[in-house]
This record gives sequence, C-alpha cells and structure tokens, in this order.
Amino acid sequence: MAIKKVVETGLWERSYVPEIIRGMALTAGHFFRNMALHTAHVFGLAKDRRGSATYQFPEERRPLAPRLRTLHRLTRREDGSPRCVACMMCETVCPARCIYIVAGEHPNPQIEKYPVRFDIDLGLCVMCGYCVEACPEDAIRMDTGIVEFSSYTREGMIYDLKKLLSLSPTPKRSVPASARPEDLPQLTEPQA
Ligand code: SF4
Ligand code: SF4
Repeated sequence: MAIKKVVETGLWERSYVPEIIRGMALTAGHFFRNMALHTAHVFGLAKDRRGSATYQFPEERRPLAPRLRTLHRLTRREDGSPRCVACMMCETVCPARCIYIVAGEHPNPQIEKYPVRFDIDLGLCVMCGYCVEACPEDAIRMDTGIVEFSSYTREGMIYDLKKLLSLSPTPKRSVPASARPEDLPQLTEPQA
C-alpha cells in the first residue's frame, strides 16, 4: 500500500514570491559571474578560471567516454593484412543489414578465408556494436574516436575494406581506445 506524505505549506510558501526571487538571484549571480570572467579572459586575465560550465564548442570538445562506440575500423595482422576471416558473423548479426562481405580463399591454409570485399553502409548503421561483439577474431572495432563523419552522397557513407583498414594503425603503432581523430590516418572519399 502506497504511503501518502502530506507536506504542510504556509501562506509564505504558497505565495511563491520568495522562491521566485531566490531563483532569479541565483540565475543573475551565474550570469554576472560568467560575464565578468569572459570579459577578463578577453584581456588575458583569470585564464585558469572557467567562464561557464558548458564546453565552448567547437574550440573546446567534450572528452569522449572510453567505451563510446565510434566509427568502425578493421584491425590488421602483423603483416598489415586484415584480421578478418570473412566468417560472416557480423554480417549475420547486423540488425540494419548494412554490412556486405565477399569471402575469398586465403593462400595460407591456416587462415582459410579473407574478405575480398567488406563494405559498411554507415548511412544505415545504427551504431549498436553487435558486429564488434559477434566477431571471434577481434577484427572489427568501434574505437576510432571519430564521431563526425558525413557525406553529401549516399555512396560516400559506404566505407569499403581499404577505408576501414586505413583507420587502423600500421602494426608498429597502437591506437588507444580514446584515440583522437587527428591521431588517425586522414579519411579519403571512396572511389565511385
Ligand atoms: S554497429 Fe550495429 S548496425 Fe552498425 S554495422 Fe555493426 S551491427 Fe550493423
Ligand atoms: S569482421 Fe569478424 S565477424 Fe565480421 S566477417 Fe570478419 S572475422 Fe567474421
């Protein structure tokens, strides 16, 4: 049974005037404090004190959460070839049906298959991360830290094997989960 709590209010509270005045004083206090700090920053003063609680986008970017799912990349073996063995697990599990893989016979009998073609249509992708979870080879990751990708065409949103591999570093380097876009290879538009 729900417990009903009755809070008695007097005429003072029911008039709302004191609370309205208190709220306005709080807002005005923040406004004038921020304005004074921003003005001081213009003259090179009090640089160590933030002028407001918000990030000054686009000059200042909000740090990404380490587990945030960002643009996909395909990982590589030591020789630079894709780790992907074209098992189709990611294509099968993808709820948006936006992965398209064509498998080929790998010259190494230990590996069996490799992706001749691997496309992700990011215009359809819902960034669910199922492809990453399903992959048995750690061949696909969503840890590039790139969240701003767009194109003027639908075709431009289709990332092919070459482009997805280019987002992984060469084996000598490693990319931390929080890698910034500027640390990664520059994207190029796929050939039509
Ligand atoms: S993140 Fe989800 S929707 Fe996007 S490619 Fe992977 S499985 Fe498909
Ligand atoms: S990325 Fe992983 S799950 Fe997808 S085909 Fe390659 S090995 Fe299989």
